[in-house]
Amino acid sequence: MEGAFFSVISREYAFKQLTDQTLDALIIGGGITGAGIAQDMASRGLRVGLIDKQDFAGGTSSRSTKLIHGGLRYLKQLEIGLVREVGRERSILYKNAPHLVTPEYMLLPIIKKGSLSKWMAAIALYIYEKLAGVSPEESRKMLSKEETEKREPLLDKDILKGGALYYEYRTDDARLVIDVLKTANSYGAICLNYAAADDFIYENNALTGLVIKDQLNDQKHTVKAKYIINAAGPWVDNLREKDHSLQGKRLHHTKGVHLVVPRHRLPLKQSIYFDTPDGRMIFAIPRAGTTYIGTTDTEYKKSLENPLVSKQDVAYLLKAVNTIFPTVHLVTKDITSTWAGLRPLIHQDGKSPSELSRKDEIFIAPSGLISIAGGKLTGYRMMAKRITDLVIKKLEAADTKTAFKKCSTDVTRLSGGAFSLSLSLNDFIEQMTSIARVIGADEGQVKSLVNKYGSHTNSILENAIAFFSENNDTGKSIILAELYYTIEHEMVITLNDFLIRRTGRLFFERETLAEAAPFILDEMAKIMKWSSMEKRNNWDGFQVEYMKVVDFR
Ligand code: FAD
Repeated sequence: MEGAFFSVISREYAFKQLTDQTLDALIIGGGITGAGIAQDMASRGLRVGLIDKQDFAGGTSSRSTKLIHGGLRYLKQLEIGLVREVGRERSILYKNAPHLVTPEYMLLPIIKKGSLSKWMAAIALYIYEKLAGVSPEESRKMLSKEETEKREPLLDKDILKGGALYYEYRTDDARLVIDVLKTANSYGAICLNYAAADDFIYENNALTGLVIKDQLNDQKHTVKAKYIINAAGPWVDNLREKDHSLQGKRLHHTKGVHLVVPRHRLPLKQSIYFDTPDGRMIFAIPRAGTTYIGTTDTEYKKSLENPLVSKQDVAYLLKAVNTIFPTVHLVTKDITSTWAGLRPLIHQDGKSPSELSRKDEIFIAPSGLISIAGGKLTGYRMMAKRITDLVIKKLEAADTKTAFKKCSTDVTRLSGGAFSLSLSLNDFIEQMTSIARVIGADEGQVKSLVNKYGSHTNSILENAIAFFSENNDTGKSIILAELYYTIEHEMVITLNDFLIRRTGRLFFERETLAEAAPFILDEMAKIMKWSSMEKRNNWDGFQVEYMKVVDFR
């Protein structure tokens, strides 16, 4: 069943499926919030549809710090419940998607005039680990000044007092969304990207459906649903406004920026969470051949569609890095890529961006529109459960003969996550590496595939071997196999879907794209049977993104 409707090839059929029935729920937004809700609802037996006006994860869910947080920073804001919840969620996700979630030590340097003294860090980490339910194997380690220096020789020795190691889990946010959606789809959820909620349909003032605009051809479709869920992230209030129900609490948008530099320009030995000169804390995280740095947290009132990295954002992050690592002297021209995202937070009077709570909230409008905003990538499963429980309660109250299943997302492997423990993930990588040797691929290339596609890597490699027998080129064969897989099973529609959200190449391999992108465009045009105009539009769309990530104003 998996992937049955999760390809552009069955797009028309998917629209028909949406319009031919009255759904139990129609979700607006294919970021992590909407994706999680679709999985939970579909697996409990609801008839569910999900639409996104852009690509899936085209909003905030491809622009985060890419961490499944234990929630250390929420401790500072005394958000005890949140720390407990995200800590628990982190281990559930690790169990269900080990290919996407990698536990790793984070170094917390303790510096003169920093936000934490050594004993405060020890107490904070102790409380954090108790609340988050951190296992003994992953418990913190306090380090002396010498040990910290040894761990990271680039740190400023003059201000360093010591350090602490604690566990953070790394992920790929956009891939997480795709795997959750693929799982939702395997339970029958009908999910469409490039399909916008254009208008609400009411009967006797109650919301009964949506007019959906197909962004690929401007056609409109009417879809009926018992409940409409607004999981539109930064756009939640736009839809509440359209529904005339924007009252009381509102969204407060803040922008967060990340910079990417080549690994050799910031050759950290491991991920670091460090103090900035203005009292905030930011991450520097090695990834593939790069290190990425972020994030900022600033008020945002401009276009929601296109948050940009400004010169001030760049200056702020470079200053922070150059202060703590005084010998690296990073400059703007070291930056190879960037991304900017918007946090859809709930406004609280008198609080600065960094002080605003990351908790989610649900708003139910008189029309019946159910909106959910705030929250974190890490907490998506519980957000989804809260919404699904609410909708099921309403459905069961309206029809007492119907009973839906209990939530099982805590024990459901995500698509690609069919491994028992990290050990067997390693076994799988080893197995795949021996297969990949036939085409001259190394362990690094295989790991990168497994971290994206998990257990589906097997079928991707089979195709890569077939392509290799024709072209004798390892890199191109792998790209081609990924291209076919993501078009057939992951709803890739544009060149940018592939290069940005399915593979992250624009962020972490941008230097390779001058050579690789024209080849990928040509192959995609063949597979998708694009007209010359469609091909040109895809190229132009890519050029905009390619330039935007290094254009700071
Ligand atoms: P989105 O991902 O924005 O999804 C909403 C979707 O709705 C969009 O794709 C949009 O196209 C769609 N949409 C809007 N209007 C319509 C319409 N009319 N019709 C159809 N579709 C529509 N969390 C963590 O756990 N770990 C982190 O490391 C982390 N780092 C972060 C760093 C930054 C800089 C930021 C900004 C956030 C970070 N977060 C992190 C928070 C996390 O990324 C967000 O909470 C989460 O991605 C929000 O997901 P969402 O689905 O609610 O919104």
